[in-house]
Amino acid sequence: MASIGSALAGIGGVLTFVPRVILQATVLATRSAVARWRLDSKMDRVNRSFQKVRNELCEVGLLDDGVYLDCIDLEVALLPSLGEAGYVMLEAPKRLRMLGFREGVIYLPGDIPDLRTHIPGGNLADTIRHEYGHCWQWLDPEFFEGAWYEKAFSFAYTDTDTVPAEAWVLRKRRGRDFLKRYKRLRTESGRDKFLEKELLKDFVSQYASTQSREDFAETFMLYLRHRRNLGKFRARPGVYRKLLAVERAVKSARRRLGL
Ligand SMILES: [Zn+2]
Repeated sequence: MASIGSALAGIGGVLTFVPRVILQATVLATRSAVARWRLDSKMDRVNRSFQKVRNELCEVGLLDDGVYLDCIDLEVALLPSLGEAGYVMLEAPKRLRMLGFREGVIYLPGDIPDLRTHIPGGNLADTIRHEYGHCWQWLDPEFFEGAWYEKAFSFAYTDTDTVPAEAWVLRKRRGRDFLKRYKRLRTESGRDKFLEKELLKDFVSQYASTQSREDFAETFMLYLRHRRNLGKFRARPGVYRKLLAVERAVKSARRRLGL
């Protein structure tokens, strides 16, 4: 049986989800009640964002009535956010199923926190786009085992041991020009800024550089958001290359589905 940690993949620190829930039960119960109270006013925004992303998926050919990603539901969980903006259950162990969690469902925390996702201007639709990326792999894992995935993202989707940012640093260190520019910077903050700027040429966000699956989900989010104008990311060569790979993967899935 998969651990609870590996069963959850969300935006934010969901790995300690259950233990913290137990420890903070009282606080959470109060916050849950308040969250429910306020939820009605937020449901319009949730429904609008969900429908918007479903329309985008329909447009690119990954969803139609009763077809493929149409089976993915979205629910607002009872529990408020513990730092995450959304999450999906990839494998639901019995104890989580008993709490009402189901696999292949996008969950939003009960208080629908106004958390910014990891890109400038990120919003609720971006959270849903990101989680749909994980749901796509959940629905069709074989497709993600294809050579296209590792070619685009360097590591398997299921590789949770490798930190892409660490591999990126090692690769960059071998570049003489890169090292020269780095060493020319005198202050630590200057060097940090330089590294962050360079990293964002190859990853959609810092979060994308933490695991291969997050690299994909963040790229899928950006692809959906800017699907009609991917060319605007040419100045970020690594990101652009991944966006085109995701676009090709979407087209290939669409052809297979006949949509
Ligand atoms: Zn994620």
